[in-house]
Amino acid sequence: MIFLRSFVCYFGIALFLSSFSIQAQEFFKAKKQYHWLSTDLHIHTVFSDGDVWPSIRVEEARREGLDLIAITEHLEYQPHSEDIPHPDRNRSFIIANDMVQPNERLQVINGSEITRKMPPGHINAVFIKDGNALLYSDSLSGIEAANKQGGFVFWNHPNYDKHRPDGIARLEPFHKYLIKNKLLHGIEVVNGLTYSEEALKIALDNNLTILGTSDIHSLTDWKHSVSSGGHRPMTFVLTDDKTPVALKKALFEGKTVVWFDNLLIGKKDNIEDLVRNNLSFDIPIYPKGKTILNVELTNHSASPFHLEYTGEYTFHQRSSIFIVPAKSSMVLMIKTEKIRNKLSLPFKVLNTLIAPKKHLNLIFILKQQI
Ligand SMILES: [Zn+2]
Ligand SMILES: [Zn+2]
Repeated sequence: MIFLRSFVCYFGIALFLSSFSIQAQEFFKAKKQYHWLSTDLHIHTVFSDGDVWPSIRVEEARREGLDLIAITEHLEYQPHSEDIPHPDRNRSFIIANDMVQPNERLQVINGSEITRKMPPGHINAVFIKDGNALLYSDSLSGIEAANKQGGFVFWNHPNYDKHRPDGIARLEPFHKYLIKNKLLHGIEVVNGLTYSEEALKIALDNNLTILGTSDIHSLTDWKHSVSSGGHRPMTFVLTDDKTPVALKKALFEGKTVVWFDNLLIGKKDNIEDLVRNNLSFDIPIYPKGKTILNVELTNHSASPFHLEYTGEYTFHQRSSIFIVPAKSSMVLMIKTEKIRNKLSLPFKVLNTLIAPKKHLNLIFILKQQI
């Protein structure tokens, strides 16, 4: 009985710690003096068609270790308006933002989802000053107004199957107009539980910022199993300081990587930057009298890395395809046949996408200590 109680007590404490330890967690290490800030730029509450009060969104984001969230209610779609009249379209942002303590890690920014039929479909504007000023009867004026406010504007779920019954994201002349006139700056490649290869191609072809968001309406835990180790889709933004101003600038510059389940999606330079700063090899050694090189490989990040070694050697303990779990180390034993003081190890990182069906290739150089 005592054992059972202490087990329950221990288990309870472990659960308590695991649900709160996420908050302090650094998801990805960045190069010196930079940060990979965790964001979710697409979130709903009862002030449009979401199921929860804005305070729940702040508490969820704190527990999940987010650095910045945008509250983005549908401007036009207001299914709860009889119960919750919504004359001020900034109200849910104000409630959420008022909860944030001075010097808190989490920041909340204002946003709106301009909700139109296709084209252009649904458009998010974040870092805006006043959502009310985006309400127009036509589809273009609200987007122009968001730009006038200095907003970062992106195309939501271009693969939405209510707008695209085949699930294929494709540009209409309206979108081409927005891109040409620099009124549209990003595109969701991941929305909720969906990933769109076609949207990734559109992003790369048109130099749009690559984004992944939760578009959460219910609870993130219910949808993404957060309490059992899952995570909502996040966009990581590479910044040189942690202020919203710096983050906005980096968004406009396209410095993002999307984390969706175990997939990391982004432009090649950004993905390479992230992987190089989160996978490291220790100094290799040859045990005396052997030509099997031993080297420790460490994954510093919160995501596993799925690797394929594409070089000429074989490993002593594993095949050329293996997984380095999150926040862990493993030893690679490489059969080099003779002692080599310098070794280049080419890998394909299979759970990265730098273009449709294209993974990051990179080479690590190992040098023996002499
Ligand atoms: Zn939408
Ligand atoms: Zn939405």
